Amino acid sequence: MNHTSLAPNALRVRMYRVGFGDCFLISFPDEGRHHHILVDCGVHAAGQVGTLGQVVENVLEECQGSLAVVVASHTHQDHISGFAEGRDLFGKIKVGQVWMPWCEDPHDRAAVRLRQKHLAIIQALSEHLLATNQKNPALLSVVQNLLGNDEALRVLRRGFRGSPEMRYLRAGERFSAPAGVAGLSVEVLGPPDDESFLSRMDLPTGERFLTPPAHGVADRHWVEPFSSTFKATRREYGKNALSPDEEKRMRKAVALDTEGLAFALDSVLNNTSLVLLLSFHGQCLLFPGDAQWGNWQAWLEADGADERLDRVTLFKVPHHGSGNATPKRALRAMTGQGLTALVSTQTKPWSSIPHVRLLDALSRQTRGRVARSDWVPVSAGPNVRRAGRLPKGFTQGEFWMDWTTTA
Ligand SMILES: [Zn+2]
Repeated sequence: MNHTSLAPNALRVRMYRVGFGDCFLISFPDEGRHHHILVDCGVHAAGQVGTLGQVVENVLEECQGSLAVVVASHTHQDHISGFAEGRDLFGKIKVGQVWMPWCEDPHDRAAVRLRQKHLAIIQALSEHLLATNQKNPALLSVVQNLLGNDEALRVLRRGFRGSPEMRYLRAGERFSAPAGVAGLSVEVLGPPDDESFLSRMDLPTGERFLTPPAHGVADRHWVEPFSSTFKATRREYGKNALSPDEEKRMRKAVALDTEGLAFALDSVLNNTSLVLLLSFHGQCLLFPGDAQWGNWQAWLEADGADERLDRVTLFKVPHHGSGNATPKRALRAMTGQGLTALVSTQTKPWSSIPHVRLLDALSRQTRGRVARSDWVPVSAGPNVRRAGRLPKGFTQGEFWMDWTTTA
C-alpha cells in the first residue's frame, strides 16, 4: 500500500475535501511510527463532490489498515455517511476504539428517549413535506441530513475489524494513551450530560458572527427547539416517543412552521457533538464537531475554560464555518502562539456558509493561518480560489489539505 512517508516526529492533520461534510485523519508520532485517529467521514447528499470513495481508500492506505480510534462526532449524514458508502473498505481496517457522544448509547435510557423523540418528529416532518409536496430545497436538505444514517451507525458499531471497544463519551471525562496512542491525553468537553443544554442551540446575539436582524429569532437569547406545547414531563411521556395528543399538536405545529422546526431539530443534533481536546507533547487540538451554543456554553462557563482555549494550537472550526457555531468569546480566548484553524466547508448547499465575518475573525486571530477545504479544487466544485500562498505549515494534496507540525 502507498502511504505518505511522514517524518518520525511529525504530527499531521489531514483535512479531506469531501464536499459539505467532515473527514479528518490525525497522525500522531510514536518512536518512528504513527498512530492514526479518524474524526468523522461523511458528506451531505446535497453537497457532494464525488470524492468520498477515494477519501476512504486514502484513509485505508495512510493508516495501513489500522486506526487506533474512529470518532463519530454526531450522527448527521455529513459526518458519518462515508462509513456506509465505504463499508467494504472500512471492514478491512482494524480499529481499537470507537468514540461517539453519550446521546448515541443504546444502553442509556435518557439517550434512547431523546433519540426516539427526534425520530418521531423527523418522521412527521418528512411525511408532511411529502404530503404537501414542498419544494423548499434548503428545508429538504435539512431533513435529508437527519435521515438514512442506520447503515453508517451499523458500520460504526459492528463493521470494523478487531472488535473495537465502543465508548460513549460525555463532558468531564479525561483519559490518557487511548488505544495505545502514547503521549495523547484527551479531555471531553461536550456534549454536556444534560438534555436541557442540548435545546439551547442558538448563539445569544452578542456571541454570534451573524448580523442579527432587527426582529426575529436571532434577537432572542436562545431558541427553544420545540414550543412549550410539546413539552412533556418524564411521567407524561410514558413508553412511546409521542402520545397521540402530542403527535396531533406536533403535526399542527409542523404545518404552521415546518422550516423552523426542521432547523431547530438540525441544531439539536449538532449540539450532541463530541467536543474533544487532544493534547500531545505541547500541541493541543480542539475538535468540536458541529457544536452550537448549548454545547459550548456548558463548558465555556466552567472553570478553566479560558486556560484550555489559550492552549489550543489547532482549531477545527465547527459546523463548516457557519455563523452560529463559533462563539466570539471562545475564539477570542484562543490566544496561543501559532494558533491554526481548519475549515471543512463549501458554499453548496448553503451560500451563507462559511460565514464571511467568522472567516475574517479567524484570519485575524490566527494571523492568516486558516485553511479551507474548498481551496482544494475538484471537478464537481464549487471551488474557491485562494488569495496568496498557502499559510505556513500547510501542503495541498490531490483531495486533501495537510497541516504538519512537530510534537
Ligand atoms: Zn456538519
